[in-house]
Amino acid sequence: MIKFLDLKKINEQYETDINEAFDKFFKSGWYMLGNSLKAFEQEFAQYCGTKHCIGVANGLDALILILKAYDFEPGSEVIVPANTYIATILSVSQNNLKPILVEPDINTYNLDPAKIEEKINDKTKAIMVVHLYGQAANMQAINEIAKKYNLKVIEDSAQSHGAIYEGKRAGNLSDASGFSFYPGKNLGALGDGGAITTNDDELAEKIRVLRNYGSEIKYKNQYKGINSRLDELQAAILSVKLKNLDNETDNRRKIAEYYLNNIKNPKVVLPSVTEAESHVWHLFVIRTDDRQGLQNYLTKKDVQTMIHYPIAPHKQEAYKEWNHISLPITEQIHAEVLSLPISPVMTLDEAEVVVEAINKY
Ligand SMILES: *Cc1c(COP(=O)(O)O)cnc(C)c1O
Repeated sequence: MIKFLDLKKINEQYETDINEAFDKFFKSGWYMLGNSLKAFEQEFAQYCGTKHCIGVANGLDALILILKAYDFEPGSEVIVPANTYIATILSVSQNNLKPILVEPDINTYNLDPAKIEEKINDKTKAIMVVHLYGQAANMQAINEIAKKYNLKVIEDSAQSHGAIYEGKRAGNLSDASGFSFYPGKNLGALGDGGAITTNDDELAEKIRVLRNYGSEIKYKNQYKGINSRLDELQAAILSVKLKNLDNETDNRRKIAEYYLNNIKNPKVVLPSVTEAESHVWHLFVIRTDDRQGLQNYLTKKDVQTMIHYPIAPHKQEAYKEWNHISLPITEQIHAEVLSLPISPVMTLDEAEVVVEAINKY
């Protein structure tokens, strides 16, 4: 069987180093906000090219904390892509702000800059961009719009660790960025984890305090903060895995390139790549108007596939108030996308099996 993502196999590559990191952690007797977190924060900031990195409990919290630190008036509006994982949108709602859904570009699945300006008004405070499936969004156009209207730009980089856009990495293309280190992400911990990267000194300081109950000095609280810390063990494991991230991305690119060059089936729309280094292939997503048929067929051929995502945010029960809205591009994407197996441990032989199956369908 060709697994969609073999996490066990990915992590077993680093068994010796991870066990060593665990031993060191265990013997240190220090569990939270210590040297392993500090070291990982420095390494990840350096990797992204930003001045600051602040480790937090997960990717959703990273986005929540950025918006919390900006402290926009309740009811202010934040522009978000209509086709994203729900966390992007939840981070806005949870701050009592209003998410404004914008349709994506049907080719890249990322925010369409041409559709942003019509949504901007006096209440708009920020644009939250998602580098969906691992490909950097059109940041040049988006940053230009933001500058014109004096808006903050926030990246949701949960799927795009290491992607390079015009010489800079995801996480360093806006005012502040949120990352997730959920096990299945390109840089994954062995549990939950997340981080914020930014070049803004003041914002970084505030988020550092906000993640720890809004308290800089123990038992003295400056802000109404939250408890969202990246623990020492996950930080130590992430340091091991960060060293191998670029190698892992290389393998993802090798598989993606093989798929792009060899899948030849008129029923299948392949992903479009703006620039090789701007895509880190968190997911390899094809589109077809016969998704159920193709997925069932691939399952019979022992090829695991997944759908990212089956229900659009505005069609979710959690956002009942939006259920009547029509967003045709977003709805088409949710009806047609299918994610093929891709991972740092997948081999070209396995990719060949997937390609042959699809081409025979
Ligand atoms: C995974 C993900 C998140 C949330 O990350 P968690 O660590 O699971 O909270 C946010 N945005 C996007 C686009 C994601 O894929």
